[in-house]
Amino acid sequence: MFDKILIANRGEIACRVIETAKRLGVATVAVYSEADAQARHVALADEAVAIGGPAPKDSYLRGAAIIAAALESGAQAIHPGYGFLSENPDFVEAVEAAGLTFIGPSARAIWAMGLKDAAKALMEEAGVPVVPGYRGADQDPARLEAAAGEIGYPVLIKAVAGGGGKGMRLVERPEAFADHLASAQAEAESAFGNSAVLIEKFISNPRHIEMQVFGDGTTAVHLFERDCSLQRRHQKVIEEAPAPGMTPQMRAAMGQAATRAAQAIGYAGAGTVEFIVDGTDGLRPDRFWFMEMNTRLQVEHPVTEAITGVDLVEWQLRVAAGEGLPLAQDQLAISGHAFEARLYAEDVPAGFLPATGTLSHLVFAPGCRADTGVRTGDVISPFYDPMIAKIITHGPSRAVALGQLARALETTQVAGTVTNLAFLARLARHPGFARGQVDTGLIGREIEALSAPLATPPAAQALAVIAASGLWEGAADGFALWTPLRRPVDLFDQAALTVRGPDEITVEIAGQRYDCVRHPDGWRVEGAKTGAAMHLAPGHVTIFMGGGAHSFEIPDPFARGAAAESSDLTLAPMPGLVRQVFVREGQSVRAGDRLAIMEAMKMEHTLCATRDGVIAEVLAREGAQVEAGAALIRLEEDT
Ligand code: ADP
Repeated sequence: MFDKILIANRGEIACRVIETAKRLGVATVAVYSEADAQARHVALADEAVAIGGPAPKDSYLRGAAIIAAALESGAQAIHPGYGFLSENPDFVEAVEAAGLTFIGPSARAIWAMGLKDAAKALMEEAGVPVVPGYRGADQDPARLEAAAGEIGYPVLIKAVAGGGGKGMRLVERPEAFADHLASAQAEAESAFGNSAVLIEKFISNPRHIEMQVFGDGTTAVHLFERDCSLQRRHQKVIEEAPAPGMTPQMRAAMGQAATRAAQAIGYAGAGTVEFIVDGTDGLRPDRFWFMEMNTRLQVEHPVTEAITGVDLVEWQLRVAAGEGLPLAQDQLAISGHAFEARLYAEDVPAGFLPATGTLSHLVFAPGCRADTGVRTGDVISPFYDPMIAKIITHGPSRAVALGQLARALETTQVAGTVTNLAFLARLARHPGFARGQVDTGLIGREIEALSAPLATPPAAQALAVIAASGLWEGAADGFALWTPLRRPVDLFDQAALTVRGPDEITVEIAGQRYDCVRHPDGWRVEGAKTGAAMHLAPGHVTIFMGGGAHSFEIPDPFARGAAAESSDLTLAPMPGLVRQVFVREGQSVRAGDRLAIMEAMKMEHTLCATRDGVIAEVLAREGAQVEAGAALIRLEEDT
């Protein structure tokens, strides 16, 4: 086994690799970009080396800098994670030329699978079923269109250098072929610098089922299948293992095809053979075709780990260090069922726009596996994929594991950015999905219902008023101000609250009253348990309730202060502590002079005189806790 390895990646996968290395007693070296200096993977590793600017091309794609970091730190091997340099054969060669071990397949194996057309030709030779199609070098549009006609519509145009669904177009009728071809070629050229395409039969009722394989360079085993049919625009959203409806015959046929594929290229390490399956009449051994092989560890590998009990990263390290395969095929078995959902910072109702933000609050559901590269306080930056975490559940049956997933998604708390949690939770509760009726078109067909904005229950608004007023923990002793007094709250139009007792508050929003009572098990609104949790940060309050995060912007207290300029009273703009008072009664002040400093949510706010005048009364003492809207200082005209 290695003494020390370098991880040429970031985010959750870097953390994932470091965790296994630690368990095996292997020291770890992280690399990081300027944007990641405080990142979780840097904190977890034993050593960390800065390799450049935030853009991937300036850091995580700088193979030479990464190899230099490995040599300097005395690492013996490099784990590439996924993405970045993980499937770059030139990088593999450079790593080996430097006398280091690449934890993954040979450059030759990556080359063999790198281009979709060549890989398919190779697989056909090895006797692996391949989707009927045209994979010729002749890229003349007329030739391609003729090929589409021979294959029979609908067809799929795919970039030979493709990945991530880029350069891929579904063509349903011959009239539309030319336009789709032009746009696929343009997209392929700009994404991969290679406009070549192939034409494939479009499989109806398509399901994406892939086999996890593991090779030692000579032989290979498979660790069963994953079903990744829940996709949005060819991107995986929720994955599971095993595949619903899988039969022993089909699994045996797919497993054999996958190991044959791996052995045909002398594969070493973890790999995935992706198949497209026609699910029209259930799963049948003659209805699956090779799509491509990914020569790396996949994002969704944890579902395989859950059902097999194998740590795939451990296998990667052991095989790269020269050990044989840790288990033989007949020692591998499936136990239970597992799901993985990809939690992203993205604005779903706005069309799944990637989002950024500071994660002011991040709490995963207990009992699930959450693979993450971020912690509370970390930033989702615009430089990288906005993944927050992968949520993985494992149960004795599919129904149990899916119920656990839905529950985990509904109770994960994220504040500081928008997320796809509500979308994922709706998918996990989808009745068709629950019945195992999965195909790659499911999300597209139901996109409107799945991505509709989350309705905000009135109780969440009422609780937001309480939280934003600093009264979530109840009206604390120090307040003793809970004589019934109706006071406006600047959160919603016409919102107000009346504190009726230490644990009882009436909230009014637009004329509607909500009786809120704090119990040991949380707030009840109109007598109903809410199970709500909250997070308060400068500028926003989030109520987690009923499986959703309801975020409300708190209006800028200083904007409000400006509106109240004519008033003689300086009010506390937010609940907090009066840290310092600079004035005394009778003192003359000029507009802009400092009157007091308040501290709230770990931030200081200076309150200034809005006009010239004389201090008539100082109503707050230093060190006092005050509520939002409390009168602090009264000014009068200079006479
Ligand atoms: P990429 O490498 O760009 O991700 P893939 O070839 O892996 O592209 O295909 C991505 C997805 O597109 C598959 O998971 C599947 O949903 C769909 N797909 C690919 N080929 C076909 C096909 N022949 N028929 C129907 N759907 C397909």
